[in-house]
Amino acid sequence: MLKTHNCGDLRLHDAGVEVNLAGWVHRRRAHGGLIFIDLRDRTGIVQLVFNPEISPAAHQVAEEARPEYVLVVKGEVVKRPPETANPNLATGEVEVAVREAQVLNPAKTPPFYINEEVDIDEFLRLRYRYLDLRRERMRDNILLRSRTVQFIRDWLRARGFVEIETPILVKETPGGAREFLVPSRLYPGQYYALPQSPQQFKQLLMVAGFERYFQIARCFRDEDQRADRQPEFTQLDLEMSFVDQEDILQLTEGLFTGLAECLTDKRILAKPFPRLTYAEAMARYGCDKPDLRFGLPLSDLSDIVLASSFAPLTSVIEQGGQAVAVRYPGGASLTRRELDDLTRFATGLGARGMLTVAFTPGGVRSPIARHLGEGQVQAIRERLEAGDGDLVLMVADQPAKVAEVMAEMRLEIGRRLDLMDRNVLAFAWVLEMPMFEWNADEGHYQAKHHHFTSPMDEDLPLLDTDPSRVRAKQYDIVCNGYEVGGGSIRIHKRELQEKVFRLLGMTDEDAGAMFGHLLEAFEYGTPPHGGIAPGIDRLVMLLAGADNIREVMAFPKTQSAQDPMTGTPAPVTKGRLKELHLRPE
Ligand code: ASP
Repeated sequence: MLKTHNCGDLRLHDAGVEVNLAGWVHRRRAHGGLIFIDLRDRTGIVQLVFNPEISPAAHQVAEEARPEYVLVVKGEVVKRPPETANPNLATGEVEVAVREAQVLNPAKTPPFYINEEVDIDEFLRLRYRYLDLRRERMRDNILLRSRTVQFIRDWLRARGFVEIETPILVKETPGGAREFLVPSRLYPGQYYALPQSPQQFKQLLMVAGFERYFQIARCFRDEDQRADRQPEFTQLDLEMSFVDQEDILQLTEGLFTGLAECLTDKRILAKPFPRLTYAEAMARYGCDKPDLRFGLPLSDLSDIVLASSFAPLTSVIEQGGQAVAVRYPGGASLTRRELDDLTRFATGLGARGMLTVAFTPGGVRSPIARHLGEGQVQAIRERLEAGDGDLVLMVADQPAKVAEVMAEMRLEIGRRLDLMDRNVLAFAWVLEMPMFEWNADEGHYQAKHHHFTSPMDEDLPLLDTDPSRVRAKQYDIVCNGYEVGGGSIRIHKRELQEKVFRLLGMTDEDAGAMFGHLLEAFEYGTPPHGGIAPGIDRLVMLLAGADNIREVMAFPKTQSAQDPMTGTPAPVTKGRLKELHLRPE
């Protein structure tokens, strides 16, 4: 090794030790004839001092060095005089008096500062990702990711889990996310797909008798990109036999608690993790992944509104709509302009308008108070527990629209009032999900989770009478407004699986062609089983307190699914296409 020590490890007790260090020039400054270089390696930074009187040659090297040059130096660790110690640096009590120095490789001026935390255009960061990853915050994120995966592996192995890899070239599974296809060269006109998850394989591993499986699994989805989506991402995929829902919840909760407590100084808001039914989550927060770092639940005011004679509102309710409100603490003092802003926020999300009721010490201020009547206004105040100074924001529309708008409005209030503490992790479970959603375009149900999720036992009879009311043995774990994992207890009997396939609009023939292997496997002694798949990217993002998953992936794609560093995707030659039996466009 060129180095005997790491830069970031040196401490006062190393004073007097001869060291060889190697790393990058983080910063360089000249001062009173001396040159100081902050030398950086993966572990941190230490200050080097070059004194022309001690070593003119080394001083000359320092004279020529520029940021990001790679240096190797030899010198002695010395205690800094107290007045020059740097309390902001772990190594700040010492410096290295350099006697020999050599430039191992010079560096061009980087396209952005590596030694300063400044905003940099993301495209440029991704174009030069290897430089971006040198920045302290990114280095810390990637190291945290590595520790997270290591922790998961150790934790699960200690509990009897086996790590097993499953194929990347798989059979296409229609019905879920759109999959990437890989044309087969050997079989003209035939295709592999990249897995959107190892779902079927992990179930087959339960049939195979492994009982406890996990994998740090790469998954692929060819979907339109959104802020926290990537075409490829990583899941902690796990599956267990002879378990019920409670076992999976307990295990996941133990793992997440361990991760947060051992790897971060973030506080878990509530332990055990709160549990909400899907219906409760939708009613109280308008969405199935609520940010529970703050309260401000939504309130349904439909009954109160209906009791008024204000036709513009009552007619919405009579047509199956809903009036839902949220409290904005202290919002009564918002200016006209700020209120217009909020209204625009709501209309931007598709609301037809937004109604406000402000409770001030001087009385109620509201364009609709007169129409609603005093009794209704009082009822609204009580239901929302609004105090003097509070504002109530209300939207009336069809339930799905109201939920969408008010979920976002609640978050907007949270943002404006700074209620989303980055140091808090508000984990919660969302349970009792609906098993099916109606697909109006195709005229059949589709699975809310996936094809293999078991219905709740008490809802089994509804499969024959009213599938829309069947709840599934499905659980999502959410944190700070993100879904960080989802899973289910699976169907493990052929007849039930076939029945569900039929409800999902598949003929027995289709089901046989697509999933015959699984149905067949179910006939060879399949244990009851279930699992979950937390997203590693989102989880690390939350543990790191980062804003999006690209911040915790070494080489992510841009939001438009490209890699500007390698130039991916890229065209291929006609010859390659021909080999794959494809015709150019
Ligand atoms: N495979 C599922 C998913 O990717 C998770 C699970 O059911 O375990 O969402």
